[in-house]
Amino acid sequence: MLETDLVEVSAPHVLVTGGAGYIGSHACKQLARAGYVPVTFDNLSTGWARAVKYGPLVQGDLLDREALDAAFTQYKPIAVMHFAALSQVGEATRDPGRYWRNNLGGSLNLIEAMVAADCLHMVFSSTCATYGDQDGVVLDEDTPQRPLNAYGASKLAVEGVLRDFGVSHGLNSVIFRYFNVAGADPEAEIGEWHQPETHLIPVMIEAAAGARPALVIHGQDYPTKDGTCIRDYVHVMDLIDAHIRGLEWLRAGRGSQVFNLGTGEGFSVGDVIGHCTSAIGIDVPHEYGPRRAGDAVALVSGSQRACHDLGWVAQRSTLDLMIADAWRWYQTGGYSG
Ligand code: UDP
Repeated sequence: MLETDLVEVSAPHVLVTGGAGYIGSHACKQLARAGYVPVTFDNLSTGWARAVKYGPLVQGDLLDREALDAAFTQYKPIAVMHFAALSQVGEATRDPGRYWRNNLGGSLNLIEAMVAADCLHMVFSSTCATYGDQDGVVLDEDTPQRPLNAYGASKLAVEGVLRDFGVSHGLNSVIFRYFNVAGADPEAEIGEWHQPETHLIPVMIEAAAGARPALVIHGQDYPTKDGTCIRDYVHVMDLIDAHIRGLEWLRAGRGSQVFNLGTGEGFSVGDVIGHCTSAIGIDVPHEYGPRRAGDAVALVSGSQRACHDLGWVAQRSTLDLMIADAWRWYQTGGYSG
């Protein structure tokens, strides 16, 4: 047997739900770099088989308990990173049932399968959308959660399930509440690729590239400096660095914890558009449209806990780097064709 085979056989496996998606695929790359075997579990409803490059792919649905049990039996993961979810605010407001079924129902199935398999470490991707509007305060982990839409509400419900299963079944979880994740792998092997795209930075990139006539700004009458919503943008590579630290935290037996992941700095949609010019030298064609239902005015993170407890420091989370990395990835042609 070759030495590389030995490493492969003995390396701990981590089940990555949503590993074919944007954030999950970046997690797989970094897990592989950190010496784990990332096993992607994904129904490929929004993800891409071509994004699964760093470990095996199990094509399955979280609502299919037998498929989950089979994956746990085959790969014996030491932990789960749970990214698989529907995640669009607009769609969640139009079709809440789908969000509750997938995000809560699927997660509950997964968590029960973990307990049955005695796999008791989960890193869970939650969201700042669980906080809702809070009158301009910086949000820390103790801010009361008042989600405005079924996306945030279904993620908050999963947080509750994790807490209950912690008490009753000894399941340990690190819950990360993401602010706005952007950017791509600086090596441009993987990146964000949704069809259709709805998130601000990739939509802006499409407009900059001429693939859509203009970026439509959702609302210009919010009580902010330029009337557009404020968000806290974090680079996907920094976000995944925190996930590896979260996994190590669990493996060290440090118990369950919740962490915000953002930079603490808020940028309006207008600011983001302005940075496109400095990052890639293109002025983005844009126009104003109505507000989007379910949007909070401002979401800005207090992330001291992640810095203090996990030693997490955001390295690439400037708007210019996030936009430049997203642009480089877009120019590869992504997963289409
Ligand atoms: N946004 C926009 N036009 C777009 C997409 C997004 O004006 O085509 C705005 C959106 O209303 C919000 C911000 O950009 O204020 C970030 O939206 P995104 O969908 O990227 O992330 P979310 O905050 O919903 O998670």
